[in-house]
Amino acid sequence: MQNYDLIIIGGGPAGIAAGIYAARQRLNTLLITKSFGGQIARKAVAIENYPGLGKISGLELIKKFTDHLKKLPVDIVQDAVVKVKKTGQIFLISIENKKTFQAKAVIVASGADPRPLEVPGEKKFIGKGVSYCTACDAPLFAQKIVAVAGGGNSGFEAAIALSKWSKKIYILERGPKPRADEINQEIAKKTGKVEVLTDVVLKEVKGKDFVNSVVYQDKKRKKETTLLVDGIFVEIGSQPATSFVESLVDFNKKDEIIVNHHTGETKTPGLFVAGDVANLPFKQIVIAAGEGAKAAMAVSNYLQNK
Ligand SMILES: Cc1cc2nc3c(=O)[nH]c(=O)nc-3n(C[C@H](O)[C@H](O)[C@H](O)COP(=O)(O)OP(=O)(O)OC[C@H]3O[C@@H](n4cnc5c(N)ncnc54)[C@H](O)[C@@H]3O)c2cc1C
Repeated sequence: MQNYDLIIIGGGPAGIAAGIYAARQRLNTLLITKSFGGQIARKAVAIENYPGLGKISGLELIKKFTDHLKKLPVDIVQDAVVKVKKTGQIFLISIENKKTFQAKAVIVASGADPRPLEVPGEKKFIGKGVSYCTACDAPLFAQKIVAVAGGGNSGFEAAIALSKWSKKIYILERGPKPRADEINQEIAKKTGKVEVLTDVVLKEVKGKDFVNSVVYQDKKRKKETTLLVDGIFVEIGSQPATSFVESLVDFNKKDEIIVNHHTGETKTPGLFVAGDVANLPFKQIVIAAGEGAKAAMAVSNYLQNK
């Protein structure tokens, strides 16, 4: 079994920054990630708030992050972690392809996954009209009619990105009015292609081989309506990715892992957490990267003190 000082779980901004800092601390480090980039990969429009980079696409930023990491002596395995266990002073980390790795410390930087709608038909049509990634899938809907579930900033940004391709976009918002910033609402309006339906609850995704409609309920009139669409983009928020570590940490009401905000440490000595998966109030790329750096430095102190 391969033995490391530190195993980092996640290849988003928090995990990558942790990897860069761990390499500088000369820790023998393995980074395991399902994919690189994390939520940035889903970002449909440019990122404009990462210091020093001005306006940059999600894919370009991911490339900059991963190019930096890959220049350093950090081992990388691309797979999903399924279980983290602690026996004595040692952590055992198992991945989907049945291998297990060993480490003295772990940083969980697994971020968040898109929150599903949990309505009939959603799972069946994933990749066949149901998408959680506008940045990845928008071009597949050229000249099509699509729905976007969620009227927050992510929903409006998705609709704006889709307006370059699709001929009509419906935004379906549960609440009485959109939650997106005014600026996003204005840009969406200017496209002339976006229609916002408020006070509606999605009930079902329907289709044959591909999505051909969604059913929603009008909350005020209690009436169900079938909307003919070729696809639906789900933008109703995210949920922390924590299933593999449940027995070693405590959670808050949002299912985020509770950490010591000075160090990222959890209730299990040697198990640190960084980025969106932690109970931090603000979820941003620069914050996640900072938290990753902080956790790697805290791991270095922890290992020295042992
Ligand atoms: C649509 C959208 C737009 C956004 N726009 C902005 C913006 O403009 N500016 C900004 O600053 N922030 C933005 N954010 C927020 C920002 O993307 C997040 O705060 C940031 O990505 C969090 O980084 P992270 O590393 O904590 O987690 P994530 O980015 O979620 O990365 C988590 C990583 O962990 C991996 N992982 C998950 N589970 C496992 C497992 N079991 N095993 C192995 N690996 C695993 C994933 O593959 C991924 O690589 C946006 C988010 C979204 C969804």
